[in-house]
Amino acid sequence: MIRPLITHPNDVLRGKNEDIIDVSDSKLKTLVQDMRETMIHANGVGIAATQVGIALRVAIVAAPETKERVIINPRILRRSWKRWSLEEGCLSVPGSYGDVRRPWRIRVRYQDLSGKEHIETAEGMLARVFQHEIDHLDGMLFIDRAKHVHSD
Ligand code: ZN
Repeated sequence: MIRPLITHPNDVLRGKNEDIIDVSDSKLKTLVQDMRETMIHANGVGIAATQVGIALRVAIVAAPETKERVIINPRILRRSWKRWSLEEGCLSVPGSYGDVRRPWRIRVRYQDLSGKEHIETAEGMLARVFQHEIDHLDGMLFIDRAKHVHSD
C-alpha cells in the first residue's frame, strides 16, 4: 500500500527515532513493504520510515545498480576522509536540490528483516544513499548539509 509522504517542514522529519527491538514483528514487514511501494511509486532510490510518519530506525537503500537493502537500526561505524559532492534531492523536500559533500566510503552496521547483522563497506553512490537515509533516522535532511539549495 502506498502511504502518503511527509514533506518538509514537519516535526516528524525532525524527531529522534527508536531502535527496533523485535524485527520479527509482522507490522514491521508490512511497513517495509509499504515503504518499498511508496519509494518505487515516487521514483526514489531510498526511503526512511520517518518519511511515512513512523519514528522507527528502518530504511530502504536502493542505489542504482545495487541490490536493495532493508536497513534496520543502522549505525555508521567509520567514515573516510575522502569526500565528494553531488546534487541530491529528497522525496520529503519535493522540487529542491543542492550539492551535498559526503564521505566517499563508509563502514556501516545494520540488521536485515530476518534479524541478521551485516557489517558492510560501501563507496560512492551506495555510500551516499546509506548516509542520506541514516540522516533521516537522525532527524536530518539533505538541505541541512547542502550548499546552494535551489528549486527546479
Ligand atoms: Zn530523503
